[in-house]
Amino acid sequence: MKAKRRAVIAKRGRRRSDHAGKADNPGECAEADPPGSQSDLSRRDFLKSTGLGAGALATGTAIAPVTAGARPPLKTDGSVQNITVCPFCGVGCGQIAYTDDDELLHVEGDTSHPISEGTLCSKGAALSQVTNNPRRLQQVMHRAPGSSKFEPRTWEWAFARIAERVKQTRDASFQTKSAGRTVNRTEAIACLGGAALDNEECYLLVKAMRMLGITYIEHQARI
Ligand code: SF4
Repeated sequence: MKAKRRAVIAKRGRRRSDHAGKADNPGECAEADPPGSQSDLSRRDFLKSTGLGAGALATGTAIAPVTAGARPPLKTDGSVQNITVCPFCGVGCGQIAYTDDDELLHVEGDTSHPISEGTLCSKGAALSQVTNNPRRLQQVMHRAPGSSKFEPRTWEWAFARIAERVKQTRDASFQTKSAGRTVNRTEAIACLGGAALDNEECYLLVKAMRMLGITYIEHQARI
């Protein structure tokens, strides 16, 4: 084993020598560098030759040992860390959202997340700009049938409206049998999930849709 290791070291040495052009024959030792050549310089000699070292040695101040200073304050100091998942695509990268009261201060990759291990693409890394954005839509907007404009509505109005329309559509389209087989379904309603939904939300959503007899259940990432 030792002989093999020596052979490898000798071979490497030859390659270096060959590259430097100082040995004519493989395996032959190159000549030693003359005194004063660059490879013969000590670190102190090098500093002296540049002048920098001479000044530093003379004053004893120019090259001071580097010491750790106090950490500058961060915008996330004192905030709450919330573990969450990026809402943009199906990769589902882990994120830490730093909040202070109702304000989102910063979002960064979660290094303990098994999928992304702290990494985020540019979209996920810029997530806080979606929340902290004056152009963000923050209320329900409704365009009535035949209308050309959207109008603001409350969430209570929207929930009641959705429930009313789902019941109306389901009652009008519900099938109990198809070709003699029991189906208990409606094909007049579809459900489209999104990447922002986590596992638990997807589970509850699919359960709710199946209870209503909805068969067309899809996900935004697949279309
Ligand atoms: S960080 Fe990028 S890749 Fe990861 S889930 Fe968000 S959008 Fe998708």
